[in-house]
Amino acid sequence: MQENTGAATGIPGDADVTDDFGLAGVPDAFQRLWTPHRMAYIKGGQDQFKNKDDCPFCVGPTRSDEESLIVYRGRTCYVVLNLFPYNPGHLLICPYRHVPDYTDITVEETAEFAELTQTAMRVLRKVSNPSGFNLGMNQGVTGGAGIAAHLHQHVVPRWGGDGNFFPIIAQTKAITQTLDEVRKLVAEAWPGESNAE
Ligand SMILES: [Zn+2]
Repeated sequence: MQENTGAATGIPGDADVTDDFGLAGVPDAFQRLWTPHRMAYIKGGQDQFKNKDDCPFCVGPTRSDEESLIVYRGRTCYVVLNLFPYNPGHLLICPYRHVPDYTDITVEETAEFAELTQTAMRVLRKVSNPSGFNLGMNQGVTGGAGIAAHLHQHVVPRWGGDGNFFPIIAQTKAITQTLDEVRKLVAEAWPGESNAE
C-alpha cells in the first residue's frame, strides 16, 4: 500500500478528495482493508429527522450492532461508527438518552461517556496506530452539530499526512473503506465482554 494513489482506490479522481493515508507511509490495519465505501448510507443525509422517533442515535441501539455499526454497548452510553466519517475509525460516544447538551447528562452518564472516550482512543491506537486524535462535541446547530438534539462525542483518529483539518471539513468525504470492516475491527479489539450481537 505504499503507493495509494487515486487509481489504487478505484475511485475516479479521488486523489484530491480522499484520505490518502498511503502518503503518510505509516502502515496500519485500516490501510490493508482499503475497499470502496458503502455509499448507500450517505444518501439520506444526517439532518433529516424531526423528533426522537427518527433520531438515529435513539434508533441505532434498537437494531443489531452490524446494522447500526455499533462497536460497544455500555450501561448508559454506547459507541458507534460515524456514518459520515472524517477519517476511517471515526467513532461517536452517545448516551442512550435523547438529550442535547453536555450539561444534561447525569454523573453516572458523564463518567461512562468519559471512560468510553478513553477506551475508544486505546482501541483505535491498537488497531490502526493513529498519531493523534480530535475529540469533541459540537453543541447546538450553531456549534456545528449535525444531530444537535442528541449529544455525541466525536473521536477522530489522525495520521500524519491525512491531509485534512478537522474544523474545516464541511462535507462528507469519500472514505474508501467499508464501515463494516472498520466496525468489526474496532468491536473485536474492544476490551471486556464481547459485543458480537
Ligand atoms: Zn436521540
